[in-house]
Amino acid sequence: SGWENQVKSSAKPRSRAGHTVLVTGAAGFVGSHASVALKRRGDGVVGLDNFNSYYDVNLKKARKSHLLDRAGVFVVEGDVNDAVLLRKLFGIVHFTHVLHLAAQAGVRYAMVNPSSYIKSNVNAFVNLLEVSKSINPQPAIVWASSSSVYGLNSKVPFSEKDRTDQPASLYAATKKAGEEIAHTYNHIYGLSITGLRFFTVYGPWGRPDMAYFFFTKDILKRRPISVFEGPDHATVSRDFTYIDDIVKGCLSALDTAKKSTGSGGKKKGEAQFRIINLGNTSPVSVNKLVSILEKLLKVKAKKKVVLMPRNGDVPFTHANITLARKELGYRPTTDLETGLQKFVKWYLDYYGGKKKSSW
Ligand code: NAD
Repeated sequence: SGWENQVKSSAKPRSRAGHTVLVTGAAGFVGSHASVALKRRGDGVVGLDNFNSYYDVNLKKARKSHLLDRAGVFVVEGDVNDAVLLRKLFGIVHFTHVLHLAAQAGVRYAMVNPSSYIKSNVNAFVNLLEVSKSINPQPAIVWASSSSVYGLNSKVPFSEKDRTDQPASLYAATKKAGEEIAHTYNHIYGLSITGLRFFTVYGPWGRPDMAYFFFTKDILKRRPISVFEGPDHATVSRDFTYIDDIVKGCLSALDTAKKSTGSGGKKKGEAQFRIINLGNTSPVSVNKLVSILEKLLKVKAKKKVVLMPRNGDVPFTHANITLARKELGYRPTTDLETGLQKFVKWYLDYYGGKKKSSW
């Protein structure tokens, strides 16, 4: 059928060395950028996304038409929980890799809709692993965990060996669960799995539920913004990591992923299992974030300082990226000012143009 042919042609790598990658969450912020980067360098890419309404669906559709369609990435509209659909896709195309970025993101929304986190971050991931383990040969899997697994850990910078047993949100708990579930599928079924702990990713086409994004919107609208302070007036800080750096890390994780070994063979248990931080190693306080935005937007913010509520947020994040350097040759190159400049340019373009009315 037409649909199958579109999947097939989108999945075709430009050279025999190219990967064939299924990208879940392809209409999402990271997924759309990663899909385009893979396609541009010659890999075959098929996207999967359920276009849910956690945030503005028009933004997801716009990523599809402006980024994915233009690059020639076909996106299937469907859910990672749909085993029949996944089997069908694997039946049409032999995916060598899965870049699994579909998830219920955001820490605060977990207090509003907890079951969506279990559904998309636990059930859907298990479904993907179940299908992947039964494919011959099995795909290698790279997926997004999160810096939030470090939780209330107070030792900075966060390194992969640190404890992750104090999640501060249900989001963090489901990402941590994903890491442990991934380990069992690696151990029993020989799946090669790399979990990447992203640290606060930002940039053009970003997520409207994240602070840098809604601060920009509120500052431009001359609305007050709430700036959190930690206990004892400690400043809240984040290791903001630019989207292009994260995408490079994802591509390199796919390139260095070893083949899955399968459950039957003697090599059982030897398949690769990795957990790697992808951060910027350069945390910035929320106050500094606001002052950079004020400068870029040429508008003074109306700051309202409030004590950080127990809403799932942690006071600070800071990545140790020694392992990413060694394993992936990962070297983030974009500082927050440069990255925010690109974000703001995109924002003014997107919302200043024809989309203005939707806000
Ligand atoms: P996003 O919400 O923009 O992208 C996720 C996409 O997945 C969305 O388009 C959504 O429609 C889709 N999706 C959700 N559940 C699905 C399901 N069950 N089936 C099919 N599609 C589904 O988020 P993002 O910022 O691009 O995040 C990508 C990944 O990185 C997520 O796993 C997220 O948890 C993780 N992460 C992101 C950040 C960050 O700062 N952006 C930080 C740490 C981890």
